[in-house]
Amino acid sequence: MVTQTRHGAVYPMQSEDRVKVWLSRRAAERIRLDAARYFPLETGGVLLGWRNGPNRTIVDVIGAGPNALHGRVRFLPDHAWQMRHIRQAFHSTSGDLDYLGDWHTHPDGLARMSAEDATTLRKISRKVKDPAMLIAAGNLSTGWHLEAWLQPTGRWMDREPAQGTDLQIFTPPEDWPIYNSGTEEPGA
Ligand SMILES: [Zn+2]
Repeated sequence: MVTQTRHGAVYPMQSEDRVKVWLSRRAAERIRLDAARYFPLETGGVLLGWRNGPNRTIVDVIGAGPNALHGRVRFLPDHAWQMRHIRQAFHSTSGDLDYLGDWHTHPDGLARMSAEDATTLRKISRKVKDPAMLIAAGNLSTGWHLEAWLQPTGRWMDREPAQGTDLQIFTPPEDWPIYNSGTEEPGA
C-alpha cells in the first residue's frame, strides 16, 4: 500500500505507528557536510519542508548562518540570517517549503536530546505547532547518525515529552521544490 502527497510523491506505507520524518538525501548530505566542516564544534540550522498529516517531509535545510557562534557543546545561530532565508524559501516556493523545526550536531556525542534540547524544543512548540528537532551525532571517523523528534504542542503547561520518530532518508523527484541558501561565509 502506498500513500500519495500533493506533490505526487509515493511513499511506502509502513505498519509502524511512529510518526515518519522523511529527510531528502540532499538535506541529509548537507547536514553531514556541515557537521564535518565544523567538527569538533557544534553547528546546526533549520529544517524546511511540509507536513503530511502527522508526518513530516524535510526537503532542504538551512545552516547556522555566517555570524553564528560555534562552541563545543552549543552554538548560537545567526538568527536574522536564518529568518531571511526561511522567508525567501517560503516565498520562492509559493509556500511549499516552510519552517518545520531545527537541527544541530552533537560532535563526539549521542543522537539523543539533552535536557537543554528538550527545553529548547518545548519553547519552539509554543510558537510552531508540533515542531521537529533533528540531531546528527558522531565524528569524522564514525560518520553521523541522525535521529529526529517531534514535540506535541499540547496545552499550556503540558509536559508531554518529545516523541521519537521513524527517520527515513529518501530521494525526491527532480521536480520537487528546492532551496539553496548559498554561501554562508562571513560577510555573505
Ligand atoms: Zn543537543
